[in-house]
Amino acid sequence: VNAEIIAVGSEMLTPQRVDTNSLYLTDQLNALGIEVIFKCVVGDDRALMAATIRTAIERSGLVILSGGLGPTEDDVTRDAVAEALGRPMRYDEAIFEGITAMFARLGRKVAENNKRQAMVIEGAEVLPNDRGTAPGLWIPIERGGVLLLPGPPRELTNLWEKQARARIEAITEPKVIRTRWLRVAGMGESDLDQLIAPVYTKYVNPATTILAKMGDVEVHLRARCETAEEAEALLAEVAPPIEALLGDRIYSRNGDPLETAVGHLLRDRGATAAVAESCTGGLLGARFTDAPGSSAWFRGGYLVYNADLKRALIGEFTEDPVSEPVALRLAAAAASKAGATYGVSVTGIAGPDGGTEENPVGTVWIGVAGPQGAEAKRFRFPGERSRVRTLAATYALDRLRQALIATQI
Ligand code: ATP
Repeated sequence: VNAEIIAVGSEMLTPQRVDTNSLYLTDQLNALGIEVIFKCVVGDDRALMAATIRTAIERSGLVILSGGLGPTEDDVTRDAVAEALGRPMRYDEAIFEGITAMFARLGRKVAENNKRQAMVIEGAEVLPNDRGTAPGLWIPIERGGVLLLPGPPRELTNLWEKQARARIEAITEPKVIRTRWLRVAGMGESDLDQLIAPVYTKYVNPATTILAKMGDVEVHLRARCETAEEAEALLAEVAPPIEALLGDRIYSRNGDPLETAVGHLLRDRGATAAVAESCTGGLLGARFTDAPGSSAWFRGGYLVYNADLKRALIGEFTEDPVSEPVALRLAAAAASKAGATYGVSVTGIAGPDGGTEENPVGTVWIGVAGPQGAEAKRFRFPGERSRVRTLAATYALDRLRQALIATQI
């Protein structure tokens, strides 16, 4: 079966709230070999919801709704599903007694409104909710089923785990999904695609997706088969040629972010790092310290935004602050003054002002100094200020990574 997810709640049609339940559910469904082919957010409107549900049922075997099971007038998910299926609802005294008991334990009196939560659609199984008042409902239908889950994420995940998953497993043909996840740095999305497309376009299964975000590119391979062995065999055929093309551009195969991958390379070599950064204004240090355990390999650094502060760190210089010699000296000083094995420097022009003919906005020099010497590289990052800064921090981490993997241990 294929699945659809309908997130119910007008608040998620505002910029303040995001539907995260569908991400959780998609992950869970994929693990069962079920593909999500459509999802949407619908406001608390019964007619709109009923129409949405009708369309979903025609298209997909499994329809999951989250939210709108509360006691108030605008919680209309139950009514809308009953309408869409053309089934009546009945009042279930046992559910109401359960809700009453839960309120009593909290020292509160149940409201008349809560009777709405004791309404059950004909043919539905009630899924008890031990973290809230609204039970879930599971309604088997001809080609699959309709599942209603409460909106609060901690209730939804709990009901999924304890009640819903087993019921859905029972209606699915045995399909298994196995994935490979490669994270790549130092390379743009289109270059990467050009490089590996000749391999992955030959296969529909596994499906290959390339996701790019600010200098960080991910390649996902998803094999969907009858058995785990078949899925693994498919991945074993397609992944190695892709990995060979990408080589040491791949920094992680287990989902670790770049700063963690770099941190572990430092740790494995018994090495430490320090930074001297200008246009990134602390972003690079922040990235290093995003990695859990970073105190074991990151010593700290120098935020030398102003030229006088750069001089205080490296001594007098006459060159442009955005230049190779300054980047080299900053990297070397970061290492020596902080007592670190490696120093990483960033000096550039994030814009929107300050660009020159020689150094237009987006020009960034990144230096790395270590036991094997120092080197610096000039980059020209596209985009506005925040993008230039983020890319500079990412590429600085990657330059250090390159230096580390060139050092055998
Ligand atoms: P309750 O019985 O608690 O009223 P409910 O099923 O009526 O549950 P909603 O009222 O729709 O759920 O939502 C309750 C809370 O859960 C809201 O604060 C909402 O922000 C959150 N929530 C609802 N749907 C989602 C979603 N799809 N993703 C993330 N959070 C959600």
